[in-house]
Amino acid sequence: MKKILMISPKKCINCGTCESVCTNSAVNVFSFEEAVISVPIMCMQCEDAACMMVCPTGALSRDENDAVVVDPNKCIGCKMCISACPMGNINYSINLKKVMKCNLCEGNPDCVKYCPTRAIEYVDATSSNIEKKKIVASKFKGLFEDE
Ligand code: SF4
Ligand code: SF4
Repeated sequence: MKKILMISPKKCINCGTCESVCTNSAVNVFSFEEAVISVPIMCMQCEDAACMMVCPTGALSRDENDAVVVDPNKCIGCKMCISACPMGNINYSINLKKVMKCNLCEGNPDCVKYCPTRAIEYVDATSSNIEKKKIVASKFKGLFEDE
């Protein structure tokens, strides 16, 4: 069965571990002071991934873990995928002149391994948790669009 990353904002203590262990700098923890909550945000590996649709060179594809991955040999650094991502989860490397994004650490995500409170989990993709993930994603998508 395929697996997905699930986040539980209520468990996040904003320690920053997930950000520092991510080799692709693909996790950002946002703190919402009014709601007294912190949320780790990373690529949702969207079903209809906008980044894949706009990439002019076919540099983005789906791997065996269902992660949307970048082929550095095909990436020309045009940043169209960055503009297209509704969650702002693709990073541009000035040094490499290419983009970097979450690749689910080839099926063994470091953010999951090192999170001390299990606020990020890598779980079987059942229909109910996929639905939950979509709800979380749409809430935060709306939030970022407002900003
Ligand atoms: S490692 Fe876990 S608890 Fe720490 S900021 Fe990341 S998600 Fe939150
Ligand atoms: S920056 Fe690279 S991966 Fe992104 S759209 Fe352009 S060629 Fe594709």
